[in-house]
Amino acid sequence: MAKMAFVSSPLDRMANHRTNAAWLSSQMTSENANFIQMFGDGLRMLANKPILNRPAGQHDFIFLGTDDKNAPWFAFSANAEGEMQALRPLMMSHTMPQEKLSIMAQARSLLHWHERHGFCANCGHQTEMSDAGYRRHCPSCKTDHFPRTDPVVIMAVRHGDRLLLGRQKAWAPGMYSAVAGFMEPGETLEQAVAREVKEETGIIVGKVSYVASQPWPFPSSLMVGCVAEAESDAISLDDKELEAARWFSFDDVRLMLNGKHPDGIHASHPWAIAHYVLTAALEV
Ligand SMILES: [Zn+2]
Repeated sequence: MAKMAFVSSPLDRMANHRTNAAWLSSQMTSENANFIQMFGDGLRMLANKPILNRPAGQHDFIFLGTDDKNAPWFAFSANAEGEMQALRPLMMSHTMPQEKLSIMAQARSLLHWHERHGFCANCGHQTEMSDAGYRRHCPSCKTDHFPRTDPVVIMAVRHGDRLLLGRQKAWAPGMYSAVAGFMEPGETLEQAVAREVKEETGIIVGKVSYVASQPWPFPSSLMVGCVAEAESDAISLDDKELEAARWFSFDDVRLMLNGKHPDGIHASHPWAIAHYVLTAALEV
């Protein structure tokens, strides 16, 4: 099976060094340091030298970790119009190795959070980056703010030898995929799976099994992949969420995953966890 995107980071995040200014500074000036520049959806890799010649304090640098060759990786936010590539098409083009793509995901989620959290949610005062990018501190009310990760449950719902797939209006024609939705506060994974499936399709699910997870940096989700066993099979569609939902035979889903279904319908790409979760549901 082709590998999911964003799950292959080679970095040791070295979290216990994030408050060590001397150590961080020695890493930044190291010969083999890597720098990722990002702005909005755009990114580019830079050699270390041009960065270090910039005026001090011009950028807030995030320390991402050190790779398997002991080289440190940093990310910062600054525009470089015309010289940046967007992460999503980069992922889809398969031109960047999975390891590097996973580092980009970490950088993008963190920088996106910093770009939108310049002011304290508690008192409105300007906040300051600290802990090498893993905290923002409010000097006025002393509140610490931490980067967020938003869990999304995504599930293959199984009934005998059929799987329930849905389709959203915005998707490419013929595309069907696993049902998904954001977890809500106070829910277990199992409860979120059952609630989302019932809300979107009217199907009641019983047993839920965890399969795998995938960071999804648009901007900061964690996709939690599950297989759920259906206890009913009469679909009642919520057409605000889904345009269609249907039961497909295992044989149909196999053809859809391989892009070989005679009706031209297809399922998610191998870089998405939906592909992995549907495949897992066929194999049990
Ligand atoms: Zn504050």
